[in-house]
Amino acid sequence: MSTSKLIRGYEVVIGLENHVQLSTQSKIFSGSSTAFGAAPNTQASPVDLALPGTLPVLNRAAVERAIRFGLAVGAKVAPLSIFARKNYFYPDLPKGYQISQFEIPVVQGGAVEFFVGDVKHKVNLTRAHLEEDAGKSLHEDYQGQSGIDLNRAGTPLLEIVSEPDMRSGAEAAEYAKTLHALVMWLGICDGNMQEGSFRCDVNVSVRKPGEPFGTRREIKNLNSFRFLVDAVNYEVNWQIDEIEDGRKIQQATVLYNPDTGETRAMRSKEDSADYRYFPDPDLPPLVIAPEWVERVKGEMPELPAVMAKRFETAYGLSTADALLLTGSLAKASYFERLVAGLQSINPAKWADAYAFDGAGYYGRAASVMVNQLVAANLNRDGKSAEDVPVETGILATLMSRQIAGVISANGMREVFSLLWTGEATDVDSVIESKGLKQVSDTGAIEAILDEVLAANPKSVEEYRAGKDKAFNALVGQAMKATKGKANPALVNELLKKKLG
Ligand code: ADP
Ligand code: MG
Repeated sequence: MSTSKLIRGYEVVIGLENHVQLSTQSKIFSGSSTAFGAAPNTQASPVDLALPGTLPVLNRAAVERAIRFGLAVGAKVAPLSIFARKNYFYPDLPKGYQISQFEIPVVQGGAVEFFVGDVKHKVNLTRAHLEEDAGKSLHEDYQGQSGIDLNRAGTPLLEIVSEPDMRSGAEAAEYAKTLHALVMWLGICDGNMQEGSFRCDVNVSVRKPGEPFGTRREIKNLNSFRFLVDAVNYEVNWQIDEIEDGRKIQQATVLYNPDTGETRAMRSKEDSADYRYFPDPDLPPLVIAPEWVERVKGEMPELPAVMAKRFETAYGLSTADALLLTGSLAKASYFERLVAGLQSINPAKWADAYAFDGAGYYGRAASVMVNQLVAANLNRDGKSAEDVPVETGILATLMSRQIAGVISANGMREVFSLLWTGEATDVDSVIESKGLKQVSDTGAIEAILDEVLAANPKSVEEYRAGKDKAFNALVGQAMKATKGKANPALVNELLKKKLG
């Protein structure tokens, strides 16, 4: 659970509201497309424009996504929930109200679990409700005028509200990352933060330990986890300064400016009474039959936390590796295909087969993905796991060649780079053409070892006297004699035999 670290003697309290754009083809109450990036107002139907006489019709696909989310976080999926009008004036909201849910939301309760370092945290959810997105004001290329684009108006949102359970910016960022990964995993949101598909509002207050919650300020629309941490840190120090100077925190909505690293009040915060919520008479209550929930349950993917546990037990991975590999469906599925690839290689056919070691190979596969080739190349190219250009079957073959001692770890890295860029497609022919094959010929290595032993009687003596370092020195000599091409495992093995 939460571990509070005090900042200047104050405890930080954080609750998040996340706006998640649901990945439906059409809008929540109209048939217009939700695709991003079209020319302004080309995806705004009469309903989105709020023309008189139009009526909203609820999109089933949006509700289904809300059900998926509710099931994934162990929440109650309300059998009956109510759409309400949230009234306010803004140019990008032609109806003069936003259709949302207020008193009875579709998803109630639930929790999200995640790790910060190796400490497990749990954040309780208050609710998640369905609502429509607003349009956008465009202040750019209109010769001093502003334009309104209603393409986004009516895009379905799931607003996920957490309890004020977090106690640091790092914890809040980890919670947000987990939520972000989860909605993508569930296939309910594309997760594109640049396009605003996943937005974080962060409520922050501070208090002296043991005191009741302080007054919060809400940092709006953070669209990067990095900014989230920076914004919270700035805000916390600002609030503490205010309190220490004898002023009271006023509830407010603030914006974070990544260029200056500061938060600044945008407006004083409305209370819900200001919005004059009332049930929308244009929409009947949303009724979700138990059979619908059951059907969605049957179609749910294995959840990331469950899969991570399975990776630990079935493949013997560390908790850290299992969590990293289940960070996205693409990563997890690549890993499982790589494991299947390794399993399907018949060790007897390997050039110099060592006994097949299941658990050891799964660990190697994890390590190749997490610490080595795959992660390193993806990071360098700024790509994600969907984009790994090397097929798992080919990577499995490559790994098998290294495990069998045909090539060294460096050789594997070299081949992998060529496969990654597409300069090579066949593992064995590139090993051949680049001369990466290690010497695994027992007779040849024994001959070299005999020479090395004859030339280094002192090391032999030291080894017999119990100095392990002397053994490594002899291995080094043998590797040198073969210009690094000897299979080190074989050199070790044969040298041990020779030394008795
Ligand atoms: P609103 O929708 O008006 O912003 P809510 O009561 O729904 O108000 O709360 C919104 C968010 O603020 C929730 O995520 C909640 O956890 C968080 N929150 C409430 N009180 C505090 C507080 N004192 N400090 C920090 N966060 C808070
Ligand atoms: Mg709010």
